[in-house]
Formats: sequence, C-alpha cells, structure tokens
Amino acid sequence: HAKDAGKSCFKFYDFELAMVSVEKNRIERNMKGALTNDEICIEFQPLIDMNTGSIYGAEALCRWYSRELGMISPERFIPIAEQSNAILQLGEKVLTESCKQVKEWNEAGWHDLVVSVNVSARQLSDKNFPNIIKALLDEYAISPQSIELEVTETSIQNNKYAKEQLERIKRLGLRLAIDDFGTGYSSLSRLKSLPFDRVKIDRSFVRDLPHSESDVEICKAILALCNVLGMRVTAEGIERQEQLELLREIGCHCAQGFLFSKAMSPEKFSQWVREFGQGSRPSTESHHHR
Ligand code: C2E
Ligand code: MG
Ligand code: MG
Ligand code: MG
Repeated sequence: HAKDAGKSCFKFYDFELAMVSVEKNRIERNMKGALTNDEICIEFQPLIDMNTGSIYGAEALCRWYSRELGMISPERFIPIAEQSNAILQLGEKVLTESCKQVKEWNEAGWHDLVVSVNVSARQLSDKNFPNIIKALLDEYAISPQSIELEVTETSIQNNKYAKEQLERIKRLGLRLAIDDFGTGYSSLSRLKSLPFDRVKIDRSFVRDLPHSESDVEICKAILALCNVLGMRVTAEGIERQEQLELLREIGCHCAQGFLFSKAMSPEKFSQWVREFGQGSRPSTESHHHR
C-alpha cells in the first residue's frame, strides 16, 4: 500500500506541477493583451509621515482586472512578468501612469505628494532605464523629487549594474528606497555604498509587533542603522493601532498599512486625501505611558 500511496503522491505532484504551468501559460498569454487593452491599472496606498501626521505620498501598486481570468494579484503575475521582457513594458506603464498622476495632483494644488514606484531587477539592469525616466520627467514636467523608486533588497543582490544604475538615477534627482528590507542579506558595507534615501521594513517584521520581542529589537536595530547612514525608515503592513504606537515610540519615520488604507483608485485616493486633511484618522501620537 505504501508503494501505491507513493505512486499516487507522484501523480498528484505531477498534476500540481502541470496545473502551475498551465496557469503560468494562461497568465503569460493574457498579459500581452492586458498591457495594451488597459486591464492593468495602478492604485495608490497612502504613506504617512509619522513626525507631522500628514500624508507623505503613496505607493503605486499595479492591479490586473482580467476580463478572462478575473482579478489577478501582483504576487502572482509580477514574478511571471519578471521572467520575460513583459516586465519592462509593465514597469514603464506603471512609471508613466505615476508621473501622469503627479502632474494631475500638482495641477490640483498638491505639490508635495511623493509617488513611490516599484522597480524590478530586470528594469534596473536595463541600460536605457535612466533615459526612460528622464524622458518621462520632461514630458510631464514634474519634479524628480516627486518620484521615489523602490527596489527590493533581493533584486540588487546579484546585480552587478545596480550601483551604477542607482547612481545614474540618483543624479536625475529621484528618491530611492530599498523595499522588503530584512528579507535579503545586504552587507552593511554594500548598504553604505548605495545611494538609498529610505529603507522599508518588510511587513513580516511588523506583523507581530509589539508583542514579539525579537521583532521589536529588529525594528530598533534597522532604525539605529538607518539613522547612522542618514536614511529614513518606512514600516509597511501596519494593521493595528498598537503596531503604529510601538513604531512611533521607537522613532520610525513613515507608516504604511491597512490601518490607514488599502490601495485605492486615483479618484478614491484623492477623496481620501481630502478627508484625511479634515481629521478622522488613526493617531500617530504615542499613547503609551510607561
Ligand atoms: P510591496 O512592494 O512590498 O508592496 C506592499 C504590499 O503589501 C502590497 O501588496 C500591499 O497591498 C500590501 N500591504 C500594504 N499594507 C498592508 C497591510 O497592512 N497588511 C497586509 N497584509 N498587506 C499590506 P500587493 O499590492 O499585492 O503587491 C505585492 C507585491 O507585488 C509588491 O510588494 C511588489 O513587490 C509587487 N508589485 C506590485 N506592483 C508592482 C509594480 O508596479 N511593479 C513591480 N515590479 N512590482 C510590483
Ligand atoms: Mg514596494
Ligand atoms: Mg514592500
Ligand atoms: Mg513587502
């Protein structure tokens, strides 16, 4: 029986693998169309400055509402796009939409909002990438300071062009952030040698705050390190007031998470900014009395 069970296990395994590749093929096939027929759009999740309690800006997160396949999470389709040049096309679309949005917000009188855009390893390695950025800044006549680029810690790890490319982008005047920090293995010397303005603490370290002592210490250590290196720190994945209070208490600069809001369409985000300005919001003041 053990042998039979083993066999069916293998079959099941093959079946699962086959399903994964069928799904991958469908996503791949549909993505090309999605990029041209506007099924892929971007939404904005607010970023809150914890010192002033005001809105720092928003992270642009792409969304795929497929007529064929339904809503597909970026966690599923980004890794597939990253295996081909589709990610270059997708990345350029997200950057273009973000610049367009900054221009609209400028015209509406909001000049200080920063839009943070995710950039994949393949984009960062593309020699033409800084030229694309420059062309977009010119086309939309926006300040380079309005755009922040997020690259993951893992995507700069095996990327020998990373430093040179990041420096070229920094010279254009953009802000640079290292995303999902703590999930890779950056050495201190490497971190010090790259022109980052900001570190984003991965949400796996935020989830169990304030109860996990080790996560509290990790967050404190990241803050201490970043303060030495002159970098600001954003914590992502904040869902509860108690997480926010702990982060505020240890001096974290910026906050992001469902406690404030999920990502929203541009229209909803604008509405949210107006309401936020009028009050009702999670307090970034510390209420701890120790
Ligand atoms: P990320 O860059 O780390 O983005 C943050 C993710 O955390 C987003 O997931 C966001 O919705 C989620 N998040 C924010 N606050 C909370 C919270 O309080 N609780 C929980 N549970 N989650 C929260 P999303 O939008 O599904 O994106 C997943 C990942 O896909 C992103 O992680 C990023 O790596 C990638 N991605 C999304 N858009 C783009 C893009 O335009 N280009 C590239 N290259 N990657 C993208
Ligand atoms: Mg990000
Ligand atoms: Mg992140
Ligand atoms: Mg993350």
